[in-house]
Amino acid sequence: MKIKSHQTRKTIKDIKVRCEDFLENIGDGVITTDQSGRIIFANRSAERMLGCKTSEMIGKSLIEACGVFDENGDRLFEKDSPILQVIKKKTTFQGSSYYLMRKNGNKFPVNLTISPVIAKNKLIGIIDTFQDITKDREIERLRLDFLMLASHQLRTPLSGIKWMIETMQRGSTGDLNQKQNDYLSRIYNVNERMIRIISEMFSVLNLESGTVFVKKDKVSVDKICKEIIILMNPVAKEDGVLLQNNIKISTVIETDPQILSAIINYLISNAIDYSFASNKVIISAKDLRKDIIISVEDSGIGIPVDEQNKIFEKFYRASNARIFKPNGTGLGLNIAKSFAEKLGGDIYFKSKENKGSTFYLRIPKKSNYIKQTKYLNKK
Ligand code: ADP
Repeated sequence: MKIKSHQTRKTIKDIKVRCEDFLENIGDGVITTDQSGRIIFANRSAERMLGCKTSEMIGKSLIEACGVFDENGDRLFEKDSPILQVIKKKTTFQGSSYYLMRKNGNKFPVNLTISPVIAKNKLIGIIDTFQDITKDREIERLRLDFLMLASHQLRTPLSGIKWMIETMQRGSTGDLNQKQNDYLSRIYNVNERMIRIISEMFSVLNLESGTVFVKKDKVSVDKICKEIIILMNPVAKEDGVLLQNNIKISTVIETDPQILSAIINYLISNAIDYSFASNKVIISAKDLRKDIIISVEDSGIGIPVDEQNKIFEKFYRASNARIFKPNGTGLGLNIAKSFAEKLGGDIYFKSKENKGSTFYLRIPKKSNYIKQTKYLNKK
Protein backbone atom coordinates (compact mmCIF):
# COMPACT_ATOMS: atom_id res chain seq x y z
CA MET A 1 0.00 0.00 0.00
CA LYS A 2 1.33 3.43 -0.86
CA ILE A 3 1.97 5.67 2.08
CA LYS A 4 0.44 9.07 1.58
CA SER A 5 2.85 11.93 1.84
CA HIS A 6 2.42 14.48 4.57
CA GLN A 7 1.41 17.07 1.95
CA THR A 8 -1.29 14.79 0.45
CA ARG A 9 -2.70 14.07 3.89
CA LYS A 10 -2.81 17.77 4.67
CA THR A 11 -4.56 18.52 1.36
CA ILE A 12 -7.18 15.81 1.99
CA LYS A 13 -7.75 17.16 5.49
CA ASP A 14 -8.11 20.71 4.13
CA ILE A 15 -10.63 19.57 1.53
CA LYS A 16 -12.60 17.72 4.24
CA VAL A 17 -12.68 20.78 6.45
CA ARG A 18 -13.78 22.95 3.55
CA CYS A 19 -16.54 20.47 2.61
CA GLU A 20 -17.80 20.53 6.18
CA ASP A 21 -17.73 24.35 6.07
CA PHE A 22 -19.76 24.31 2.87
CA LEU A 23 -22.30 21.89 4.37
CA GLU A 24 -22.44 23.91 7.55
CA ASN A 25 -23.26 27.10 5.70
CA ILE A 26 -25.61 25.83 3.01
CA GLY A 27 -29.07 27.48 3.02
CA ASP A 28 -30.96 24.17 3.10
CA GLY A 29 -31.26 22.11 6.23
CA VAL A 30 -28.82 19.21 6.07
CA ILE A 31 -28.85 16.26 8.42
CA THR A 32 -26.67 13.22 7.95
CA THR A 33 -27.10 9.90 9.67
CA ASP A 34 -25.15 6.67 10.00
CA GLN A 35 -26.30 3.53 8.19
CA SER A 36 -28.90 2.82 10.86
CA GLY A 37 -30.51 6.25 10.59
CA ARG A 38 -28.97 7.80 13.74
CA ILE A 39 -28.10 11.48 13.31
CA ILE A 40 -24.38 12.25 13.18
CA PHE A 41 -24.46 15.79 11.83
CA ALA A 42 -26.88 18.73 11.43
CA ASN A 43 -25.91 21.99 9.80
CA ARG A 44 -26.73 25.51 10.96
CA SER A 45 -29.83 25.83 8.77
CA ALA A 46 -31.21 22.59 10.18
CA GLU A 47 -30.54 23.86 13.71
CA ARG A 48 -32.22 27.17 12.90
CA MET A 49 -35.28 25.60 11.25
CA LEU A 50 -35.74 22.97 13.94
CA GLY A 51 -34.85 25.32 16.78
CA CYS A 52 -32.48 22.86 18.43
CA LYS A 53 -28.75 22.32 18.68
CA THR A 54 -26.91 19.55 16.86
CA SER A 55 -25.85 18.14 20.24
CA GLU A 56 -29.55 17.59 21.06
CA MET A 57 -30.05 15.61 17.85
CA ILE A 58 -26.92 13.47 17.71
CA GLY A 59 -27.63 9.77 18.12
CA LYS A 60 -31.39 10.15 17.59
CA SER A 61 -33.45 9.24 14.56
CA LEU A 62 -35.06 12.09 12.59
CA ILE A 63 -38.43 11.14 14.07
CA GLU A 64 -37.07 11.28 17.61
CA ALA A 65 -35.14 14.48 17.01
CA CYS A 66 -38.05 16.38 15.48
CA GLY A 67 -41.45 14.83 14.80
CA VAL A 68 -42.16 14.03 11.17
CA PHE A 69 -45.79 14.41 10.06
CA ASP A 70 -47.58 13.41 6.88
CA GLU A 71 -49.79 15.73 4.82
CA ASN A 72 -52.75 15.05 7.10
CA GLY A 73 -50.83 16.09 10.17
CA ASP A 74 -50.50 12.50 11.43
CA ARG A 75 -47.25 11.83 13.21
CA LEU A 76 -45.15 9.17 11.49
CA PHE A 77 -44.08 6.16 13.47
CA GLU A 78 -40.49 5.00 13.29
CA LYS A 79 -41.48 2.12 10.99
CA ASP A 80 -42.96 4.59 8.44
CA SER A 81 -39.95 6.87 8.46
CA PRO A 82 -38.82 7.78 4.93
CA ILE A 83 -35.23 7.43 6.17
CA LEU A 84 -35.82 3.75 6.90
CA GLN A 85 -37.26 3.33 3.40
CA VAL A 86 -34.10 4.84 1.94
CA ILE A 87 -31.91 2.57 4.06
CA LYS A 88 -33.91 -0.44 2.90
CA LYS A 89 -34.22 0.42 -0.79
CA LYS A 90 -30.99 2.40 -1.17
CA THR A 91 -32.73 4.83 -3.49
CA THR A 92 -33.36 8.55 -3.13
CA PHE A 93 -36.65 9.67 -1.65
CA GLN A 94 -38.31 12.98 -2.44
CA GLY A 95 -41.45 14.41 -0.91
CA SER A 96 -43.12 17.77 -0.46
CA SER A 97 -46.04 16.63 1.63
CA TYR A 98 -44.24 16.27 4.94
CA TYR A 99 -44.05 18.46 7.97
CA LEU A 100 -41.27 18.72 10.53
CA MET A 101 -41.72 20.04 14.03
CA ARG A 102 -39.65 22.71 15.70
CA LYS A 103 -38.59 22.32 19.31
CA ASN A 104 -41.37 24.76 20.30
CA GLY A 105 -43.98 22.43 18.79
CA ASN A 106 -44.70 24.45 15.60
CA LYS A 107 -44.92 22.39 12.42
CA PHE A 108 -43.64 23.59 9.08
CA PRO A 109 -43.98 22.07 5.60
CA VAL A 110 -40.78 20.88 3.95
CA ASN A 111 -39.43 19.75 0.67
CA LEU A 112 -37.53 16.67 1.69
CA THR A 113 -34.80 14.83 -0.20
CA ILE A 114 -33.25 11.83 1.47
CA SER A 115 -30.40 10.11 -0.33
CA PRO A 116 -28.34 7.07 0.52
CA VAL A 117 -24.58 7.65 0.70
CA ILE A 118 -22.91 4.66 -0.89
CA ALA A 119 -19.18 4.01 -0.86
CA LYS A 120 -17.62 0.89 -2.35
CA ASN A 121 -21.09 -0.59 -2.84
CA LYS A 122 -21.91 -0.24 0.83
CA LEU A 123 -24.38 2.08 2.46
CA ILE A 124 -22.37 4.25 4.81
CA GLY A 125 -25.05 6.73 5.75
CA ILE A 126 -27.93 8.95 4.74
CA ILE A 127 -28.03 12.60 3.78
CA ASP A 128 -31.28 14.40 4.34
CA THR A 129 -31.76 17.91 2.91
CA PHE A 130 -34.87 19.98 3.48
CA GLN A 131 -36.26 23.41 2.73
CA ASP A 132 -38.97 25.22 4.67
CA ILE A 133 -41.75 25.78 2.09
CA THR A 134 -44.15 27.69 4.35
CA LYS A 135 -43.95 30.79 2.12
CA ASP A 136 -44.57 28.81 -1.11
CA ARG A 137 -47.58 27.17 0.53
CA GLU A 138 -48.95 30.53 1.59
CA ILE A 139 -48.54 31.99 -1.90
CA GLU A 140 -50.18 28.90 -3.39
CA ARG A 141 -53.02 29.17 -0.91
CA LEU A 142 -53.54 32.86 -1.68
CA ARG A 143 -53.57 32.06 -5.40
CA LEU A 144 -56.17 29.33 -4.91
CA ASP A 145 -58.27 31.47 -2.55
CA PHE A 146 -58.27 34.29 -5.07
CA LEU A 147 -59.25 32.01 -7.96
CA MET A 148 -61.93 30.32 -5.84
CA LEU A 149 -63.40 33.68 -4.89
CA ALA A 150 -63.28 34.89 -8.49
CA SER A 151 -65.01 31.78 -9.85
CA HIS A 152 -67.57 31.84 -7.04
CA GLN A 153 -68.35 35.50 -7.72
CA LEU A 154 -68.69 34.86 -11.44
CA ARG A 155 -71.20 32.08 -10.93
CA THR A 156 -73.83 34.32 -9.32
CA PRO A 157 -74.28 36.82 -12.19
CA LEU A 158 -74.22 33.98 -14.75
CA SER A 159 -76.99 32.17 -12.89
CA GLY A 160 -78.89 35.47 -12.84
CA ILE A 161 -78.53 35.82 -16.61
CA LYS A 162 -79.72 32.23 -17.08
CA TRP A 163 -82.80 32.89 -14.96
CA MET A 164 -83.62 36.07 -16.91
CA ILE A 165 -83.26 34.36 -20.29
CA GLU A 166 -85.51 31.51 -19.15
CA THR A 167 -88.10 34.04 -17.95
CA MET A 168 -88.06 35.75 -21.35
CA GLN A 169 -88.22 32.43 -23.19
CA ARG A 170 -91.31 31.49 -21.19
CA GLY A 171 -92.95 34.66 -22.55
CA SER A 172 -93.26 36.34 -19.15
CA THR A 173 -91.88 39.58 -20.61
CA GLY A 174 -94.09 39.54 -23.70
CA ASP A 175 -94.15 37.67 -27.01
CA LEU A 176 -90.87 37.21 -28.85
CA ASN A 177 -90.52 36.90 -32.59
CA GLN A 178 -88.47 34.11 -34.23
CA LYS A 179 -85.33 36.22 -34.57
CA GLN A 180 -85.46 37.32 -30.92
CA ASN A 181 -86.01 33.71 -29.86
CA ASP A 182 -83.01 32.58 -31.93
CA TYR A 183 -80.77 35.24 -30.41
CA LEU A 184 -82.00 34.45 -26.95
CA SER A 185 -81.22 30.76 -27.30
CA ARG A 186 -77.75 31.62 -28.62
CA ILE A 187 -77.16 33.87 -25.59
CA TYR A 188 -78.45 31.02 -23.43
CA ASN A 189 -75.96 28.58 -24.93
CA VAL A 190 -73.02 30.96 -24.52
CA ASN A 191 -74.06 31.58 -20.92
CA GLU A 192 -74.35 27.83 -20.30
CA ARG A 193 -70.86 27.41 -21.67
CA MET A 194 -69.51 30.05 -19.30
CA ILE A 195 -71.31 28.39 -16.38
CA ARG A 196 -69.69 25.09 -17.38
CA ILE A 197 -66.20 26.61 -17.64
CA ILE A 198 -66.54 28.30 -14.25
CA SER A 199 -67.91 25.16 -12.65
CA GLU A 200 -65.05 23.05 -14.08
CA MET A 201 -62.51 25.62 -12.92
CA PHE A 202 -64.11 25.48 -9.51
CA SER A 203 -63.80 21.69 -9.41
CA VAL A 204 -60.14 21.82 -10.43
CA LEU A 205 -59.43 24.42 -7.74
CA ASN A 206 -61.26 22.38 -5.13
CA LEU A 207 -59.26 19.33 -6.10
CA GLU A 208 -56.00 21.28 -6.02
CA SER A 209 -56.67 22.89 -2.68
CA GLY A 210 -57.68 19.57 -1.15
CA THR A 211 -61.19 20.74 -0.31
CA VAL A 212 -63.06 17.92 -2.04
CA PHE A 213 -64.43 15.91 0.82
CA VAL A 214 -65.50 12.35 0.20
CA LYS A 215 -68.64 11.01 1.80
CA LYS A 216 -69.49 7.35 2.25
CA ASP A 217 -73.02 6.28 1.32
CA LYS A 218 -74.77 3.22 0.03
CA VAL A 219 -75.18 3.76 -3.71
CA SER A 220 -77.08 1.58 -6.13
CA VAL A 221 -75.12 1.53 -9.38
CA ASP A 222 -78.07 0.97 -11.70
CA LYS A 223 -80.20 3.60 -9.96
CA ILE A 224 -77.58 6.31 -10.11
CA CYS A 225 -76.82 5.60 -13.80
CA LYS A 226 -80.53 5.55 -14.64
CA GLU A 227 -81.03 8.96 -13.01
CA ILE A 228 -78.11 10.45 -14.93
CA ILE A 229 -79.29 8.96 -18.22
CA ILE A 230 -82.76 10.46 -17.71
CA LEU A 231 -81.22 13.86 -17.00
CA MET A 232 -78.90 13.69 -20.00
CA ASN A 233 -81.45 12.40 -22.48
CA PRO A 234 -82.63 15.85 -23.61
CA VAL A 235 -79.01 16.91 -24.29
CA ALA A 236 -78.37 13.71 -26.26
CA LYS A 237 -81.58 14.17 -28.22
CA GLU A 238 -80.54 17.68 -29.23
CA ASP A 239 -77.42 16.16 -30.83
CA GLY A 240 -79.43 13.30 -32.33
CA VAL A 241 -77.69 10.74 -30.11
CA LEU A 242 -79.45 7.83 -28.44
CA LEU A 243 -78.50 6.91 -24.87
CA GLN A 244 -78.89 3.19 -24.26
CA ASN A 245 -78.90 1.86 -20.73
CA ASN A 246 -77.46 -1.68 -20.77
CA ILE A 247 -76.94 -1.99 -17.04
CA LYS A 248 -78.09 -5.35 -15.76
CA ILE A 249 -76.57 -5.39 -12.30
CA SER A 250 -78.16 -4.02 -9.17
CA THR A 251 -75.04 -3.91 -7.01
CA VAL A 252 -75.01 -1.52 -4.10
CA ILE A 253 -71.61 -0.04 -3.36
CA GLU A 254 -70.19 2.19 -0.68
CA THR A 255 -69.02 5.45 -2.21
CA ASP A 256 -69.72 9.15 -2.58
CA PRO A 257 -72.86 9.47 -4.73
CA GLN A 258 -72.25 13.06 -5.78
CA ILE A 259 -68.70 12.48 -6.92
CA LEU A 260 -69.68 9.26 -8.67
CA SER A 261 -72.52 11.06 -10.50
CA ALA A 262 -70.16 13.84 -11.55
CA ILE A 263 -67.72 11.31 -13.06
CA ILE A 264 -70.42 9.41 -14.97
CA ASN A 265 -71.82 12.74 -16.13
CA TYR A 266 -68.48 13.78 -17.59
CA LEU A 267 -68.07 10.45 -19.40
CA ILE A 268 -71.59 10.41 -20.87
CA SER A 269 -71.48 14.05 -21.80
CA ASN A 270 -68.17 13.52 -23.65
CA ALA A 271 -69.59 10.48 -25.42
CA ILE A 272 -72.52 12.62 -26.61
CA ASP A 273 -70.27 15.56 -27.54
CA TYR A 274 -67.93 13.42 -29.66
CA SER A 275 -70.59 11.25 -31.34
CA PHE A 276 -71.99 11.73 -34.81
CA ALA A 277 -75.71 12.38 -35.22
CA SER A 278 -77.79 9.16 -35.04
CA ASN A 279 -75.05 7.38 -33.08
CA LYS A 280 -75.73 5.36 -29.97
CA VAL A 281 -74.03 5.73 -26.60
CA ILE A 282 -74.18 2.54 -24.55
CA ILE A 283 -73.81 2.57 -20.78
CA SER A 284 -73.00 -0.79 -19.16
CA ALA A 285 -71.74 -2.06 -15.82
CA LYS A 286 -69.87 -5.13 -14.62
CA ASP A 287 -69.73 -6.52 -11.13
CA LEU A 288 -66.25 -7.80 -10.30
CA ARG A 289 -65.15 -9.26 -6.99
CA LYS A 290 -63.90 -6.05 -5.40
CA ASP A 291 -64.81 -3.43 -7.98
CA ILE A 292 -67.53 -2.40 -10.33
CA ILE A 293 -66.71 -1.20 -13.81
CA ILE A 294 -69.02 1.27 -15.51
CA SER A 295 -68.39 1.68 -19.22
CA VAL A 296 -69.56 4.33 -21.64
CA GLU A 297 -69.19 3.30 -25.24
CA ASP A 298 -69.65 5.54 -28.26
CA SER A 299 -69.03 5.18 -31.96
CA GLY A 300 -67.96 8.78 -32.47
CA ILE A 301 -64.81 10.54 -33.61
CA GLY A 302 -62.41 8.56 -31.38
CA ILE A 303 -59.01 9.76 -30.23
CA PRO A 304 -55.93 9.73 -32.49
CA VAL A 305 -53.45 7.10 -31.24
CA ASP A 306 -50.55 9.52 -30.82
CA GLU A 307 -52.66 11.82 -28.62
CA GLN A 308 -54.20 9.19 -26.40
CA ASN A 309 -51.59 9.52 -23.64
CA LYS A 310 -52.33 13.23 -23.21
CA ILE A 311 -56.09 13.41 -22.90
CA PHE A 312 -56.17 13.32 -19.10
CA GLU A 313 -53.88 16.34 -18.94
CA LYS A 314 -55.45 19.61 -17.91
CA PHE A 315 -56.66 21.68 -20.93
CA TYR A 316 -55.57 19.04 -23.44
CA ARG A 317 -57.96 18.54 -26.36
CA ALA A 318 -57.21 16.15 -29.19
CA SER A 319 -56.75 17.70 -32.63
CA ASN A 320 -59.90 16.07 -34.07
CA ALA A 321 -61.99 17.15 -31.03
CA ARG A 322 -60.89 20.78 -31.48
CA ILE A 323 -62.26 20.74 -35.03
CA PHE A 324 -65.38 18.69 -34.28
CA LYS A 325 -66.38 20.63 -31.17
CA PRO A 326 -64.40 23.88 -30.87
CA ASN A 327 -65.93 24.83 -27.54
CA GLY A 328 -64.45 22.35 -25.07
CA THR A 329 -62.35 23.20 -22.03
CA GLY A 330 -60.14 20.13 -21.81
CA LEU A 331 -60.83 19.96 -18.07
CA GLY A 332 -63.61 17.40 -17.77
CA LEU A 333 -61.54 14.23 -18.07
CA ASN A 334 -58.85 15.57 -15.79
CA ILE A 335 -61.48 16.30 -13.13
CA ALA A 336 -63.21 12.94 -13.71
CA LYS A 337 -59.93 11.06 -13.27
CA SER A 338 -58.99 12.95 -10.11
CA PHE A 339 -62.49 12.34 -8.76
CA ALA A 340 -62.21 8.62 -9.57
CA GLU A 341 -58.89 8.50 -7.73
CA LYS A 342 -60.52 10.22 -4.75
CA LEU A 343 -62.93 7.30 -4.64
CA GLY A 344 -60.04 4.84 -4.80
CA GLY A 345 -60.78 4.01 -8.45
CA ASP A 346 -59.54 4.89 -11.88
CA ILE A 347 -60.55 5.75 -15.44
CA TYR A 348 -59.08 4.20 -18.57
CA PHE A 349 -60.24 3.84 -22.14
CA LYS A 350 -59.80 2.30 -25.54
CA SER A 351 -60.35 4.30 -28.66
CA LYS A 352 -59.95 4.25 -32.41
CA GLU A 353 -60.09 7.37 -34.51
CA ASN A 354 -63.37 7.62 -36.44
CA LYS A 355 -64.59 4.35 -34.90
CA GLY A 356 -65.36 5.39 -31.35
CA SER A 357 -64.24 5.16 -27.76
CA THR A 358 -65.12 3.26 -24.63
CA PHE A 359 -64.32 4.83 -21.31
CA TYR A 360 -64.17 2.58 -18.24
CA LEU A 361 -64.66 3.75 -14.71
CA ARG A 362 -63.42 1.36 -12.03
CA ILE A 363 -64.74 2.00 -8.54
CA PRO A 364 -64.09 -0.18 -5.50
CA LYS A 365 -67.25 -1.56 -3.93
CA LYS A 366 -65.87 -0.56 -0.55
CA SER A 367 -63.86 2.58 -0.95
CA ASN A 368 -60.59 2.76 0.87
CA TYR A 369 -60.44 6.44 0.22
CA ILE A 370 -57.35 8.40 -0.40
CA LYS A 371 -56.94 10.55 2.67
CA GLN A 372 -58.07 14.15 2.47
CA THR A 373 -55.38 16.66 1.72
CA LYS A 374 -55.49 19.71 3.88
CA TYR A 375 -53.22 22.55 4.81
CA LEU A 376 -52.04 22.40 8.37
CA ASN A 377 -51.93 25.39 10.66
CA LYS A 378 -48.39 26.32 11.24
CA LYS A 379 -48.79 25.41 14.90
P1 ADP B 1 -63.47 18.70 -23.44
O1 ADP B 1 -64.46 17.66 -23.83
O2 ADP B 1 -64.10 19.90 -22.84
O3 ADP B 1 -62.53 19.04 -24.55
P2 ADP B 1 -62.39 16.72 -21.62
O4 ADP B 1 -61.36 16.89 -20.58
O5 ADP B 1 -63.69 16.17 -21.21
O6 ADP B 1 -62.52 18.13 -22.30
O7 ADP B 1 -61.77 15.77 -22.72
C1 ADP B 1 -60.44 15.97 -23.14
C2 ADP B 1 -60.27 15.49 -24.55
O8 ADP B 1 -60.39 14.05 -24.58
C3 ADP B 1 -61.34 15.96 -25.51
O9 ADP B 1 -61.08 17.25 -25.99
C4 ADP B 1 -61.24 14.91 -26.60
O10 ADP B 1 -60.13 15.15 -27.40
C5 ADP B 1 -60.96 13.65 -25.81
N1 ADP B 1 -62.19 12.87 -25.52
C6 ADP B 1 -62.78 12.71 -24.32
N2 ADP B 1 -63.84 11.89 -24.41
C7 ADP B 1 -63.92 11.53 -25.70
C8 ADP B 1 -64.78 10.67 -26.45
N3 ADP B 1 -65.80 10.02 -25.87
N4 ADP B 1 -64.56 10.52 -27.76
C9 ADP B 1 -63.53 11.16 -28.37
N5 ADP B 1 -62.68 11.98 -27.72
C10 ADP B 1 -62.86 12.15 -26.41
